[in-house]
Amino acid sequence: MTKPISIAIVGLGKIARDQHVPSLAATEAFRLVATASPHDTLDNVPGFPGIGSLLAARPDVEAVALCTTPQVRFGIARQAIAHGCHVLLEKPPGATLGEVRELAELADERGVTLLASWHSRHANGVEPAREWLSTRRMKCMSVSWKEDVRKWHPGQAWIWKAGGLGVFDPGINALSILTHIVPGNLVVASAELSFPSNCECPIAATLELRDMRGTPIHIELDFRQTGDESWDIDVETDNGRLKLSKGARVMHVDNQAVALPQATEYSRLYAHFAELICAKTSDTDCSPLMLVADAFLTGRRIEVEAFHE
Ligand code: NAP
Repeated sequence: MTKPISIAIVGLGKIARDQHVPSLAATEAFRLVATASPHDTLDNVPGFPGIGSLLAARPDVEAVALCTTPQVRFGIARQAIAHGCHVLLEKPPGATLGEVRELAELADERGVTLLASWHSRHANGVEPAREWLSTRRMKCMSVSWKEDVRKWHPGQAWIWKAGGLGVFDPGINALSILTHIVPGNLVVASAELSFPSNCECPIAATLELRDMRGTPIHIELDFRQTGDESWDIDVETDNGRLKLSKGARVMHVDNQAVALPQATEYSRLYAHFAELICAKTSDTDCSPLMLVADAFLTGRRIEVEAFHE
């Protein structure tokens, strides 16, 4: 058995506690040896206020999982790579595409692994859906990704600040699935972004995408949902209908449930990180972030009522 990779979590917020800590406890590939976060620590794990003090005190750390807000990720990733650490970037991998390109080059030069992670791509239905679609011709697709921001992002002021992405913070999860299951590239044909009058990021968005055959893909993102969330993708093809629901954890073909391999997204994500480290390579696919950037570049902006949590 190979020795576990010593890893530290940077940014001990909601996703670190909900997913990274339990997933690391459950895998033999990694051992959580430290955390770095300005105001929080874990019981029985050495904690530091930031990446600088972490790296200075713990030269044994071989990898870091960056679970901070996206706006500060670049500077932290640069320091970790310069130190010789393998780096897992939570999604989105950066505040800009340029940041991720720079990190990919730095990781390559330093000989460490960089993973731009997309947790939703590891949902149970994603790989089966990709295989199913690969043998069919898509006629149209529609995506509904709607959730109550007050329920899922309480107190997260950063999500409304420039670089926080607003409704694209969850919406990019849908885009990460689409860019994985649809063959070839996707482009933004048009977009409409709804900005609350007091926020720097959109609360809702409608996107029209096209695949390379011109197939229409209609996407609705909304943070103003109340009640249950909808995280659904519907595809009509020349040979049947596919539905992915509950964030692609459930799959139906022609209204019949499909039996899926069961594992958590983050257990698969960490297995992928371990494989990349072992193979001395990186995965820096930015296609979901590119679609978000293109929606911001070309989208029509409309102002809607102010948002108050
Ligand atoms: P969050 O609860 O606000 O947590 C962010 C954490 O980063 C906070 O603990 C914050 O510490 C820490 N932080 C900020 N600046 C830092 C710095 N310079 N050094 C170290 N730590 C720093 O946000 P979240 O929901 O966990 O989301 C974090 C990232 O994960 C986002 O990119 C999000 O898109 C992604 N993500 C979130 C979810 C989810 O369900 N929430 C799911 C998947 C991915 P302080 O609060 O002490 O400042």
